[in-house]
Amino acid sequence: MLSEAHIIEYLTANFPDNIGDDAAVINGYAGQQYVVTTDLLVEDIHFRVSYFNPADLAHKALHVNLSDIAAMGARPCFILCGISIPMAQAKYAEDFLFSLATICKKAGVLLIGGDTTKSPDKLFISITAIGTTAPEYIKYRTTAAVGDYICITGALGDAHIGLIACENKRSDLTEFKNAFLRPHAKINEGQWLGTQLSVTSMMDISDGLFIDLRRLCEASNVASNIILENIVPSTSFINACYDLQLDPVTTMLIGGEDYGLLFTVDSENYQLLADAFMQRFGYQITCIGHIVAGNGVHFIEQGQAKNMTLTPFSHFGEE
Ligand code: ADP
Ligand code: MG
Repeated sequence: MLSEAHIIEYLTANFPDNIGDDAAVINGYAGQQYVVTTDLLVEDIHFRVSYFNPADLAHKALHVNLSDIAAMGARPCFILCGISIPMAQAKYAEDFLFSLATICKKAGVLLIGGDTTKSPDKLFISITAIGTTAPEYIKYRTTAAVGDYICITGALGDAHIGLIACENKRSDLTEFKNAFLRPHAKINEGQWLGTQLSVTSMMDISDGLFIDLRRLCEASNVASNIILENIVPSTSFINACYDLQLDPVTTMLIGGEDYGLLFTVDSENYQLLADAFMQRFGYQITCIGHIVAGNGVHFIEQGQAKNMTLTPFSHFGEE
């Protein structure tokens, strides 16, 4: 069956040194390396024009790419933008491109090219981002080690609440809708974590903690134990979940599109790193568990293994 996982598996098997991380790493000048990533946003699969205004979509299209650059520990420098426009969305697309230019300037990223075509009925947006850093600061998914602590930046599940709120045409739940419509790539955090020797691996959380941590574990050939007591929903999150008939912890584990960072830290240096992060960015990282031998993502509650049946969410029914 045609699925994203099968396609990526096939391509990674053919190009094992290039495909499989948040971005590809290529050699540049003066000992620097470039990291390159691309993402495709399709109308009615990834966004709806009914609730994404052009500026929100420009923000999101840019930041989902910058997030993959940040996840490698690199600094974003350039983007290219491919856009395929249906007649009905000509004005929307024009406003999108105007906003994209403004948002790129604000993020200190140069728009260096792209491609424009007509589309029969849906709007397609493909952004390619290029970043750079020194080779020793690049973080991969393949290098988590047994004993490392698993950490995340920011909240889990907010964007999923936002998606459901947008789909249900809710006029409230603004904070959650903003998390979904305008996620902020952790650009400064990613670059800083890249420079920290105690950070052993990193990726961003685009498809939800459960599925993305599983990918990190597969890439590093290890397993993980998530300590459920460390996944703590806020009161406003619990209230929103009950309102939308969602289970809070499940939503935190499988909700996608938050674009926080997921990284592992060697346990001896964890406290030092957590304190330095707090001092630098003014908020805490969360340690959600640890890396163990084996494979898969496992759950611990009150010191005991706990079975959880989680079906990773797929947003408008795509594979
Ligand atoms: P992310 O969510 O971090 O953007 P993806 O899950 O989309 O990553 O992709 C995982 C890996 O598979 C990346 O290295 C990406 O470049 C690669 N990949 C995905 N689709 C394709 C494709 N159609 N052709 C080549 N590589 C692909
Ligand atoms: Mg990613």
